[in-house]
Amino acid sequence: MAKDAKGKKGFVFKEAEKMCPKCGVRMGSHADRFSCGKCGYTEMKKKGA
Ligand SMILES: [Zn+2]
Repeated sequence: MAKDAKGKKGFVFKEAEKMCPKCGVRMGSHADRFSCGKCGYTEMKKKGA
């Protein structure tokens, strides 16, 4: 691990995207849930990750 890497910012996406189980399209990501813009399917994100 290089010292130069210290202080470097990076974005980490744990659940950046989720596929709709009905349509197979990528669902929209919200603060606490995912929602499909095609069929309206909504799935809550898991807590305590
Ligand atoms: Zn859908």
